Amino acid sequence: MSTAVKNIEEAQARVLELRGLIDRANRQYYVLDHPEITDAEYDALFRELVELETQYPELVTPDSPTQRVGGPPSDAFAKVTHRTPMLSLANAFEREEVREFDQRVRRTLGNVKLEYVTELKIDGLAMSLLYEDGRYRIGATRGDGYVGEDVTPNVKTIPSVPLSVTIPPEFPTTFEVRGEVYMPKRSFQRLNTELAAEGKPLFANPRNAAAGAVRQLDPRITARRRLDTFMYALDPAGGARSQAQILLRLAEMGFHVNENRRVHGDIDAVIAFLDEWQEKRHDLDYEIDGIVIKVNDLAQQDELGFVSRSPRWALAFKFPPEQAETVVEDIKVYVGRTGAITPVAWLAPVQIGGVTVGRATLHNEDEVARKDVRPADHVIIQRAGDVIPEVVRVLKEKRPASSRPWHMPKKCPECGTDLVREPGEAATRCINPICPAQVLEHLRHFVGALDIEGFGYATLQQLIDRKLVKDPSDLYHLSKAQLLSLEGFADKSAQNLLDRIEASKPTTLLRFLVALGIGHVGWTMAGLLAEHFGSIDRLQQASVEELKSIGGVGPTVAEEVHEYFQRPESRRLIERLLEAGIDIKQPERREGPLSGKTLVLTGSLSSMTRGQAEERIKALGGMVGSAVTKKTDYLVVGADPGSKLEKAQRLKVPILDEAAFLELIGR
Ligand code: NAD
Repeated sequence: MSTAVKNIEEAQARVLELRGLIDRANRQYYVLDHPEITDAEYDALFRELVELETQYPELVTPDSPTQRVGGPPSDAFAKVTHRTPMLSLANAFEREEVREFDQRVRRTLGNVKLEYVTELKIDGLAMSLLYEDGRYRIGATRGDGYVGEDVTPNVKTIPSVPLSVTIPPEFPTTFEVRGEVYMPKRSFQRLNTELAAEGKPLFANPRNAAAGAVRQLDPRITARRRLDTFMYALDPAGGARSQAQILLRLAEMGFHVNENRRVHGDIDAVIAFLDEWQEKRHDLDYEIDGIVIKVNDLAQQDELGFVSRSPRWALAFKFPPEQAETVVEDIKVYVGRTGAITPVAWLAPVQIGGVTVGRATLHNEDEVARKDVRPADHVIIQRAGDVIPEVVRVLKEKRPASSRPWHMPKKCPECGTDLVREPGEAATRCINPICPAQVLEHLRHFVGALDIEGFGYATLQQLIDRKLVKDPSDLYHLSKAQLLSLEGFADKSAQNLLDRIEASKPTTLLRFLVALGIGHVGWTMAGLLAEHFGSIDRLQQASVEELKSIGGVGPTVAEEVHEYFQRPESRRLIERLLEAGIDIKQPERREGPLSGKTLVLTGSLSSMTRGQAEERIKALGGMVGSAVTKKTDYLVVGADPGSKLEKAQRLKVPILDEAAFLELIGR
């Protein structure tokens, strides 16, 4: 996609322009976790810059994005200087470039036996984990490759990061593991659904969502985002002589290592692997954006060395973006639960990555204006992860002459009320609280949060139309005869639905808060509120100040929550729900053989990682303490215990060795 430049002056002008565009994109992507352009567009700009700098080497400057990695570490975190730089990878988009890579490698190494390992390129965030004495000490992002952000407590909440590792005998006790933190597709979808419900901008892809989750100031938020890891680098390699051996060793040490990897004797086999995974990529429950090809032998890797921003012994083959061209047949607006109006492009149906797409979200008025999407436009759309597809850009050259910019309607399409857009807000809203579209969305949200299956839109719409249900509390007063009067119900299905309504009555504060549908309160925020207040009464009485004092609750949310509970109609709804039999249980405590027991762990266990042991204890109803106190029920002691052992002996806390612990947890 290189623009034709005729001379060095033109090249220089374009180089400066490209650097500006790339620097901006880097900031949006690495620092803010919210890219404005697609990866494919970014890659095209980057490639054009590389091509121009190759053609005119005198234009290369040390601060060019082609000479640097990532983005600057944010000042919100302490800085960590990496022991060795965390580099990027050279990219390839065509199979021919993979063959050229093989030829370059062979030219440098000469006529020797050569193997490649292929690994999936996980669409996550690069992470460095430093272990001292076999214990997790520091977790850091890549940052600019030299200095990263200290995210130690956040990474600690990721269940697959072992907090202590059994070290093989000949292995140094201080070592670094690198790999990828990623967000599984399900967690990504859940998060975006939640953000959409809270009226917040969605994450463009799981990579940005994972980065956003790790780069939080409150580790509890990271913990709720359900992240996972795949690790692929170990330094020092501790006797391993190849990348394949490193991966095996990491797996033995208790790290998650991706199993879809293979060693190949030649480049044809590598290319067959690329073809295979380009097909199969959608079967995985995490996103990959390509395949990483690495020279297997570590001594050969050393010989090949590095260029400024990437090793010469590895190549990232990127899959083509999943985009397609289609026509916008219409732009319609939808009224959400909170009255927010979302413009949606109705598309001529088109296949992308094996799925037929007929709609694409346009988010809000500004987004439509920014992309200047109009009915009858030809557009490029793409799926990022499994989220709702979006319009990437308009093909303006194909725009019909009669086309006019699209504008947000002035009135609600459902109830005719004037729409309102508050200054500083992205969303346009219908503020009529009894707008039928909002009532419907609110009911749908309520039954979703309380897990009452069987209330589809069609059923809820009939209930509203017949004036049987005005708010969620009415659901609890429905009779069988009323249900039978609706379309699509027979005796059995009506009874099943009544049973499910009944079963939803005992619930948790968390679910109840989500179900109320307070603006900005999705599962994560409701979790923070439920944890802090423990009861609906206490929450109802909370001041804005108290709400603001909770980590993770900002001033907007504090105001919104406070205001919600001050409104007489909210109070009435809560009263009616409680009268209807909703029974909010106290915070969930899991019952099990370790209920009420607090266990503390020290040293490393040989049969499981620290994280696994903690999970097991919690699953059996127990609690995991961080320090030994008089209230500790057991201290579990592994190899190389710390000072907790002495303290437990002093306080006469019962001590379990690994065998006794395994017996206790039934293994
Ligand atoms: P990269 O994503 O092309 O490749 C390098 C990274 O791959 C490594 O740092 C590592 O984190 C990761 N990786 C995943 N699996 C791996 C494995 N098995 N072995 C080794 N590494 C593995 O390079 P990058 O420097 O991280 O990022 C550049 C890319 O980021 C661009 O090509 C573009 O796709 C995207 N980007 C997009 C924007 C935007 O605005 N859309 C902006 C900046 C960057």
